[in-house]
This record gives sequence, C-alpha cells and structure tokens, in this order.
Amino acid sequence: PLLVIATGNAHKVDEMRDQLSPWFRVAGLPDGYRSPAEDGDTFAANAYIKAQAAADALGALCLADDSGICVDYLNGAPGIHSARYAGRHGDDEANNNRLLEELEAVPDDQRTARFVCALSLASPEGELARFEGTFEGRVGHERRGERGFGYDPLFVLAEGVTAAELSADEKRRRSHRGQALSLLAKALENSTLYKQCIAAAREVE
Ligand code: IMP
Repeated sequence: PLLVIATGNAHKVDEMRDQLSPWFRVAGLPDGYRSPAEDGDTFAANAYIKAQAAADALGALCLADDSGICVDYLNGAPGIHSARYAGRHGDDEANNNRLLEELEAVPDDQRTARFVCALSLASPEGELARFEGTFEGRVGHERRGERGFGYDPLFVLAEGVTAAELSADEKRRRSHRGQALSLLAKALENSTLYKQCIAAAREVE
C-alpha cells in the first residue's frame, strides 16, 4: 500500500522511507501542499494534526511526526517549540545559540535533555495508531560534529560524542525517531495494524 510521509523535511522522508519500505510504497507530500497550523499542546497532538490534515486533503494513508528537544533545567522547553525557539521557523543556528545562552553557566549535571518524537498514522477515516520515542543526552557547551541537523551538534550522548558525530545509520538506530519507527514496525509485524493499513489504502486508491 501507498503511505505518504506528511513532512516537508526531505531528511525525515529519507530516514523513514528506509525503515518502512518492507511494508509500504513511501511517497512525500505533493508540491504545493499547504501544511496545517501546528497548534496542539503536545508532540502527539501536533503529529496527529499533521497526519490527519494530510490524510483528509490527499485521501491517502499518511504518517506524520512531530519532534523536538526537552531540557530539564528549562522545565521541558523548547519542547514543541523547538523548530522556532529563536523566533524564525527552522533557523538551527539561531536556535542553538539561544539554547546555549539559556544554559550559560549551568553545570553539566543540570543540562540533561531528551529528544522526543511522536508519530501518528492516519487515514481519511481517522487515526490508526500513534507511537513515541525518546533519545537521552545532555546539552553541551559548544557545537561538535558536522552530521545530522537541528540541535544535534549540541546534544551530547552518554559516551561523550554528540548526535552530530554519529554515523547516519547509528543515529537512525538510536534516535527518538528511530525508536518511534521501531515501535511502528513492531506493531506492523503484529499484523492487525498492517491489515487495517491495507484496508484503508485500498479504500482510497
Ligand atoms: P518539527 O519538524 O516540527 O518536528 O520540528 C522539529 C524541531 O526539533 C527541528 O527543527 C529541530 O530543531 C528539532 N529536532 C527534532 N529532531 C531532531 C534531531 O533528530 N536532531 C536535532 N534536532 C531535532
């Protein structure tokens, strides 16, 4: 069956395509698609808003994700506002600068943080399933590494390297998005969900 990944981020479509190819023919959003306002209060609510809006607009089975970084010292901020923490949506450079400023002089043991990813799978009939994955670490004092995107260069893992220093494969395997995708994969293996997906896709194709 066809599954549309409802994100404008080509990076994410690639990451998800690999893991989902055993089950689905994966496509991205069509040109000119207008994404809905993400006005939910949680990652799961925003993932659902994105998945359901795409499913309704395209008449297709859609998967959307919503993700961000939650810093304990900042009571979970920037959280669902991660992409626009410094004001302009998707300005990674400015977002990382703001995070460093907010944590200036905060000692290592209080810089614990996690990436969170919520996934929502929806058909025009409604949401079929949702999953959440997390990735634990802490916010470093300076950027390190050239890979990844977003807050990766500041995100220090238990072994001391940043998420931007991991190979693409390793990040995919260990990250919040990778964890949420494996939960989805497990649910598909159990086959009830997969049967629902096939039925939903058949109805709209
Ligand atoms: P979204 O695209 O609305 O889900 O926004 C996610 C934001 O959270 C991105 O702009 C990044 O700043 C941050 N983020 C989410 N996942 C990651 C990741 O794997 N690495 C680094 N930053 C991430």
